[in-house]
Amino acid sequence: MSSRPRIGILGAGQLALMLAQAATNLDVDILCAGRPGDCAEQAAPVVPVDLHDAAAVAAFAKQVDLLTIESENIDARVLHGLNLYPNAHAIATAQDRLVEKQFFVDCGLEVAPFAPVDSLLDLQAAIASIGLPAILKTRRMGYDGKGQVRLRSAHDAAFAWSALGGVPSILEGMVSFDAEASLIAARNRQGETVFYPLTENVHRDGILRISRAPAFPDLQTKAELYLTHLLDRLNYIGVLAVEFFVRDGHLLANEMAPRVHNSGHWTIEGSATSQFENCLRAILGLPLGSTASQPTVMLNCIGAMPSEQETRDFPALFRHDYGKAPRPARKVGHLTLPASETEVIAEWQRRLDPNV
Ligand code: AMP
Repeated sequence: MSSRPRIGILGAGQLALMLAQAATNLDVDILCAGRPGDCAEQAAPVVPVDLHDAAAVAAFAKQVDLLTIESENIDARVLHGLNLYPNAHAIATAQDRLVEKQFFVDCGLEVAPFAPVDSLLDLQAAIASIGLPAILKTRRMGYDGKGQVRLRSAHDAAFAWSALGGVPSILEGMVSFDAEASLIAARNRQGETVFYPLTENVHRDGILRISRAPAFPDLQTKAELYLTHLLDRLNYIGVLAVEFFVRDGHLLANEMAPRVHNSGHWTIEGSATSQFENCLRAILGLPLGSTASQPTVMLNCIGAMPSEQETRDFPALFRHDYGKAPRPARKVGHLTLPASETEVIAEWQRRLDPNV
């Protein structure tokens, strides 16, 4: 590696943007592979690369010392043979909900009942064994509630199967959870691992709306133990986020993201070292930074961003505008506030999403 290493990020959206912003604390250059106009351009050069094209990705890889990702939804064949952190096997595990769930079970984590579904007949059999209500989810390429259909009656089976396009899927029992939570860990090349506090997450329509940390202190040790198993088994280097359902004091693993995660955006202001800086530190093999944290709340801006004029009167509020064009259901920014600002938080919750 040259004296000032260059990290390549596959993708140039808001996660790449915040990684590039965190890189200013470190002696490192960032180069993103994306499309002209992608929002990471605000903080780092973006090279136009078709992320489905293995030759184009390999050519991009030659321009950098090491590579990371901002989305797991990149064809594993494209990732093969790259100097990639986390490794391609870890990414492939997180890309496929069936493989991922089986991996959770192998590592001793609790999960909702699930069954593979490759045909309408399989779906009918899965409904009979798992029961209803349930959720049919595509094994691949699902995010922000996309690639999922809820089933309430056995009559929904044919509709659900065709609504998802008849692709390999899993049926999952609907969990009547008390809350949702996530744990974010960073593990560096030397195997040093740090954890952030468990974060409570509120979703609507499958999209994260609110994160609050710290949460569920009684479950922190259990969650850290779970992630330690996952990280060790995957020989993981980078940041890993695992989403859980919390039910009756138990953590049921829902899914993992082999990258920095929306539920950790609060760490930019709320923690001594953000998830973004620790991700870069981990893959560079640097000592990890402290995850000491202050109680913090993050509100996602979905569809449209409040103007600077609107947020100006709230000095405790940090406004992160990703610079993306407004579009329904699109994450275009987020607001971060100290948890003690309860009235301001309630006010912005109402303004951003009166339905939560
Ligand atoms: P996912 O893409 O799996 O993270 O699902 C998005 C959101 O849908 C989750 O955060 C939950 O709010 C909800 N959801 C997904 N799976 C289930 C389930 N098995 N039971 C209840 N809610 C679920």
